Order: sequence, then structure tokens, then C-alpha cells
Amino acid sequence: MKCWIIDRKADLKTEPAPLKRVDLPVPEPGSGELLLKVKACGVCHTEIDEIEGRTPPPVYPVIPGHQVIGLVEQHKGTRKDIRIGDRVGVAWIYHACGKCAYCRKGQENLCPDFVATGRDIHGGYAEFMVVAEDFVYKIPDIFTDSEAAPLLCAGAIGLRSLRLCHLKNGNSLGLTGFGASAHLVLKLVQYQYPETAIYVFARSRTERDFALQYGCAWAGDTKERPPVKLDCIIDTTPVWTTVVEALACRKPGGRLVINASRKEDEDKDYLLNLDYPKHLWMEKEIKSVANVTRNDVEEFIRLASEMPFTPEVEEYAFEMANQAIMDIKNRSIRGAKVLVMEK
Ligand SMILES: [Zn+2]
Ligand SMILES: [Zn+2]
Repeated sequence: MKCWIIDRKADLKTEPAPLKRVDLPVPEPGSGELLLKVKACGVCHTEIDEIEGRTPPPVYPVIPGHQVIGLVEQHKGTRKDIRIGDRVGVAWIYHACGKCAYCRKGQENLCPDFVATGRDIHGGYAEFMVVAEDFVYKIPDIFTDSEAAPLLCAGAIGLRSLRLCHLKNGNSLGLTGFGASAHLVLKLVQYQYPETAIYVFARSRTERDFALQYGCAWAGDTKERPPVKLDCIIDTTPVWTTVVEALACRKPGGRLVINASRKEDEDKDYLLNLDYPKHLWMEKEIKSVANVTRNDVEEFIRLASEMPFTPEVEEYAFEMANQAIMDIKNRSIRGAKVLVMEK
């Protein structure tokens, strides 16, 4: 089968085509597993963190991709509600133990044995992939393959970030960065908290225009100040400047939730601008969001189909995977990026 692999650490500044296109045997599903014929796979910023070594695959090579839409080709499990030919999704959570203290209280995203799709095990930048039957999601017919893919990570992690904000209807919400996840959060907030005004900070003009078009109250550059202080801010950028600047925009008791699996080191010096009375005093909180649970994924798919809301998607032919990665890195194209097998 054709697939893309990460086979070593690479710096995108000097290597704009870090993924290697290879052919590998079609994997064999074991007991309790499904073989999927992949239709589409979302491209996520986490792939860049894997390639550049901030969250490296434990073993090379690995097939990346954790927002997979596929058709069940072989079924070696016992689930009766899933049949050959059904369309299902696979998300970042490939496996959690189900027995540890975190798993037992619904926090399988924090499981010490968490296995991440497309990093710890082969993912969906391929014609076929194998997955455990308990870690797939049914996809409602209203979404096309490429519309459904971003729901699985950008949407699910967006929902998790929003929950960690403890937002109430009418609270003010900031979003730093306006990529795939933030645009899904914006739609979700408009649906669940209609009186909440959203303020978007983005360095890229494309992202600011995109946010305004989606109905945010205000959009400015990273260091601009919105007209009001904010109750909560969700940061979806890979850098530190935005974090420090966002900290200064909060009300007393305000929260900042960092939705980024890793931060880049390039502007880390900016943290020296951290000023305790200005940025943290008055019970201001900072929290990160890690991984997703199956419940997050299911819940976001349900909400997106109920709204209903279809994500804005940029499709790339399968052979264009490296281009899609670079477009995320450069933040030059709006919306969610998705590889499609037939285009
Ligand atoms: Zn992702
Ligand atoms: Zn566990």
C-alpha cells in the first residue's frame, strides 16, 4: 500500500519535504481489530512536533495521521454495531489501559499507557490502517470524508479546551491563533454560549480575516489589546509570545488554557517578560490540555451534527502531504487541512 512515513527528525526550515513516500504491506488486523481502507486523513500541527522532534515517535519509521476517516474492510472484533463497509473515524487516542486510576475516572487522556495514533503506532497517511474496534467512531452521513476528519482532533481537542475554561454564557472568550481547532471552537461557542463575545488574536492577516468572517467580536495582532478584559482565553499557537501577551488581557480570576501538545523554543526568551502582578496575581490560572478521550471525540461529532456545522476544509491530494505540512507551518491557508485518497 502507498503511505507516508516519518523516518527521522527533520527541521522544516531547511527540509520542506520531511515525509517520505514509501510502499508497505497492507497491515493484518488481529483479534478485536478492524482493517480500514482510508478515505481521508486530517493534517495536524502535532505532525510538525513529531517531525521536528518535540514529541518524537518512539520508533522510526512511523506513518503519521490521527484524524482518519475510513471504511471497514475487515472485521476481526465482536462489535455488532459495526459492519464491513461502515464509515468510521480514528482519533489521537489509539489505546488507553482502561484500568488505571485516570481511566477509571474518565480521564483516559492522562493514562500512563496512552498510545497516540500516528506517533506511537501507525496512523492514517496510508491506504490502509489497523485499529482496535473500541477506538473508532461512527461518522454521520451529513459530513463528507474530508469534512469529518477535522472533527476527530481539531474539534475534539477544541471541545476539551473549552470545557477546561469553565465558560458561562455571556463570559468573554479570547482565542489566540485561528487555525483548524480555533475555528471549530468559535462555532461551538456560538452554538452553546450565544451571548459570549469572542476576541481573536492572530499574527497572520489570513487568520484575522477568517475569524472576522466567522463572526468574532474583534480580531487583532498578538500584541494588540481587545476593548474588554477577558474571562477565558484558549491558546492554540506553538509559541510563547502569545501566551505572555494573553496573560495580560485577563480579568481577575481569568483562565488561560493552552491547547498545544508542545511549544517551540524559538521565542522562549519572551517568558522573561512575565510580570507576576500583571500576569498572574489576582488568582489568574493557567492550564494545559492533553490528548483527548473517546468521549470528547464522540461528543464533538454529536454536537457538530446537531448544530449542524461543517468545518472549513482545504483538501490536498494524497501525494501533496508535504505541502499540507508546510502550509500549516506557514499559517498561510485558512481552515483545516485534509489529505484525500482520491482527488
Ligand atoms: Zn491533532
Ligand atoms: Zn489507563
